Amino acid sequence: MKQIYVLCNCALRCFELSGSADIGKMGGVKTALRQRHLGLRKQLNAEQVYDLSQKAQQLVMALAVFSAARTVGLYAPHANEVDTELLSSCAQAVGAVVAYPRIVHGTMEFVRFDSECTWQPGKFGILEPSIGAQGVHSCQVEPELFDAVVVPGVAFDSAGNRLGYGKGFYDRFLAQCTPQCVFIGLAYAFQLEDKLPREAHDVALDYVVTDAKITACPASSRI
Ligand code: ADP
Ligand code: MG
Repeated sequence: MKQIYVLCNCALRCFELSGSADIGKMGGVKTALRQRHLGLRKQLNAEQVYDLSQKAQQLVMALAVFSAARTVGLYAPHANEVDTELLSSCAQAVGAVVAYPRIVHGTMEFVRFDSECTWQPGKFGILEPSIGAQGVHSCQVEPELFDAVVVPGVAFDSAGNRLGYGKGFYDRFLAQCTPQCVFIGLAYAFQLEDKLPREAHDVALDYVVTDAKITACPASSRI
């Protein structure tokens, strides 16, 4: 039995359906949700992005699982995503290893960011750490080394479900981390949905943090 969600103005209604056609329908619901949420986020101005990002990051820093982490995955924000600059400074100030994603041959991996790094646009125009004239950076941080990964997204729910951009990059990466690694979704309050569709490959988060609150997701959400 799979749960199929139908988008209805601003709420999601849940119906129980079964059969292989459900997967396709779920993809359609995810696509509609992505369009709506990306449209909302696009409307934020620079001041709102800054103010709300400060609030959300302060709440992340209040999480002991973040402040105690020795190896942290962050992301370089794009298209009005919540900024991570404060988290980066905070983690680096206490000597944590900070790493950011890059796409190599269609796969997302993380590379260490340090004072020698510059930023270079990668695939999809998202900034990636680079070193040297060729922009080559070989200091990959393996998934099993992370204590915490801060995850961007299009929408989240309180069960830790995450709607990404539709490529499944984070689902594939997070599946390689250890069970001890903590996954923290970072978003604006308006990105929280009551309930998101979830497919078998979707990896759930441990916390969802917005400018308004921290949600600790039920342990059973994590697969
Ligand atoms: P997103 O998580 O970016 O919102 P989806 O969850 O809809 O995107 O996944 C996008 C695509 O990636 C799907 O076709 C899905 O089958 C594929 N995918 C995700 N995770 C995995 C995985 N671990 N192994 C193989 N394919 C995956
Ligand atoms: Mg997914």
